[in-house]
Amino acid sequence: MQPMETVFARCAVCDSPVSLANALLQKGKPLLVCRDFECQRVAGLQATLPPVLFKTQFDFQRQRILARKEQEAARKRHIDAIEQAEAQENEQVLQQFVADHAEHADSPPQLLALPSGREGLAPLADARLQQYRQHLETVIQQALDCADVNDLPSDQHADAQATRLKVDNLFEANPALQAVSDRLCAQCKGGCCAAGAEHAYLSAFTIRRQLDAEPDLTADVILQRYLQALPAESVTGACVNQTASGCVLPRELRSDVCNSYYCDSLRKLQREWAAGEAPAAVLVVQRSNTNWNRFEGEGVNPVVGVTLVDLPQ
Ligand code: SF4
Ligand code: SF4
Ligand SMILES: [Zn+2]
Repeated sequence: MQPMETVFARCAVCDSPVSLANALLQKGKPLLVCRDFECQRVAGLQATLPPVLFKTQFDFQRQRILARKEQEAARKRHIDAIEQAEAQENEQVLQQFVADHAEHADSPPQLLALPSGREGLAPLADARLQQYRQHLETVIQQALDCADVNDLPSDQHADAQATRLKVDNLFEANPALQAVSDRLCAQCKGGCCAAGAEHAYLSAFTIRRQLDAEPDLTADVILQRYLQALPAESVTGACVNQTASGCVLPRELRSDVCNSYYCDSLRKLQREWAAGEAPAAVLVVQRSNTNWNRFEGEGVNPVVGVTLVDLPQ
């Protein structure tokens, strides 16, 4: 937990607390503001605008910033309420499970909340296929245009490459953890793949890796690898490569994002495992939401499955 900063004053724009440390950094300035970039920008206008114009701008921008902050606060209350209600419900599910299975009373399984992948299946629409093809052509060209990955922009795909290496090392040292992760992902049916859309997170990094391993590869051969892997039917509203039985792409063709991403629940379990603190069993409480739309509805997401999973020790 972060130590609480003492409130020294209030922001002249949005009325949020300003700590003593922050106030000292602004010593000599006519308006004391919080760390919000917009509040700082509005306060900065004072030096550039005539007083009357500044006051009009200040009042207008202040209202806008306050409205935004209220919207953010309302969103946070909504998220907190759902998290709290679902956690309470999960706790009740666990208590009921233990009441029904006396053999687990002495050492109850640990709760593990999972989302769900989408369910409908449909042949890939031509518009989606064309978007995917276009995305592939772009990233293949980017990969061909650079000498190595260091020439590529440092973005989420670069970070994902570092994360994938860590995940690979973790799984190499703990093969059983990879099996457990795969088992849980299969049960979830790709709750995080729901956002793969027509890009499948593929980037020039993924393609460059293949080119480094096979320098004679041509753009067309790489493109065909991906197009030929497409399933006859994909899960609707999810990644083009997602099917009822999982992802059709072999691991080596998947993006680093796909090969390294794990939802919060699995990441927590993996951390515990690596620290030698994994539970003997988890009670998986699966809900109907995907990994990305948990807070889009009015209230809690319904439970769609409760399963006990023993973890190898
Ligand atoms: S990482 Fe989490 S959300 Fe993604 S498939 Fe696995 S269990 Fe589901
Ligand atoms: S490529 Fe596979 S793992 Fe990646 S988002 Fe699509 S279905 Fe999921
Ligand atoms: Zn402010």
